[in-house]
Amino acid sequence: QTPIEDKPRWIRTRATMGPEYRDMRRRMVDGDLHTVCQEAGCPNIFECWEDREATFLIGGDHCTRRCDFCQIESAKPEGYDTDEPRRVADSVKQMGLRYATVTSVCRDDLDDEGAWLCAETIRQIHQVNPGVGVEMLAQDFSGKQDLLDVVFEARPEVFGHNLETVPRIFKRIRPGFRYDRSLAVLSSAHDAGLITKSNLILGMGETREEISEAMQALHDANTDLLTITQYLRPNAYLHPIDRWVTPQEFDELAGEARDIGFVGVMSGPLVRSSYRAGRLYRQAMEA
Ligand code: SF4
Ligand code: SF4
Repeated sequence: QTPIEDKPRWIRTRATMGPEYRDMRRRMVDGDLHTVCQEAGCPNIFECWEDREATFLIGGDHCTRRCDFCQIESAKPEGYDTDEPRRVADSVKQMGLRYATVTSVCRDDLDDEGAWLCAETIRQIHQVNPGVGVEMLAQDFSGKQDLLDVVFEARPEVFGHNLETVPRIFKRIRPGFRYDRSLAVLSSAHDAGLITKSNLILGMGETREEISEAMQALHDANTDLLTITQYLRPNAYLHPIDRWVTPQEFDELAGEARDIGFVGVMSGPLVRSSYRAGRLYRQAMEA
């Protein structure tokens, strides 16, 4: 570990367990349920669960693409579980969630790249849990409009697609994606009448000016909601940390994003793209 990898003092979590968190925790153990929140050891679990919000990963444990910040194993996926949407919808019910984020690995091995699985999960959650909001944090389906439409037609409350970084280093960080294609996916979701959301991860070598440009590009692509986060290197094989963004800079960036015109912004060292997602969605609804 190089000195830059030492976490600064502001990368610290508060472990305050409230009553809603405790209740969710008990239901998880009793029902043998799985969320990204616990499996990734997310530092925000006490806050998100207190709001009865959680994130689920669908499509398996392996991704057909390889991003340089992501710890999900890149390999040919095994199998295709068409019962998964029902189980996720059931977990949402058992946990008593108010808002669920669903994210999927890339399934370039499937003809529809996993579009049906995403759409069906959204539909099943809505059907089994009336009034619960669903945020689909999707991949880009290679920019294929017919596949995107399958997901759009399931009407998630929010359609998220993460841009993550700036053009100059994009190819190295996200070799399976394209900057312009990701922006086009967000634009297309907006044209379908959905609330759109994206994320930028800082600390991977981008400059402050490039962050501003990427924020403007996201806004020009009709992105409504934005999260801005710090890169935390999950293991030594992944992209090194370039810098730690201070809490003050995160606050400044949030202000800049609001000035650009985003209707809801979460920006901070421990923010994740699904951090307090329901709260951000409600901000968009009130705007
Ligand atoms: Fe990870 Fe998503 Fe990239 Fe796959 S596409 S490697 S799951 S960030
Ligand atoms: Fe779960 Fe996302 Fe909140 Fe982390 S930020 S606890 S993964 S909902």
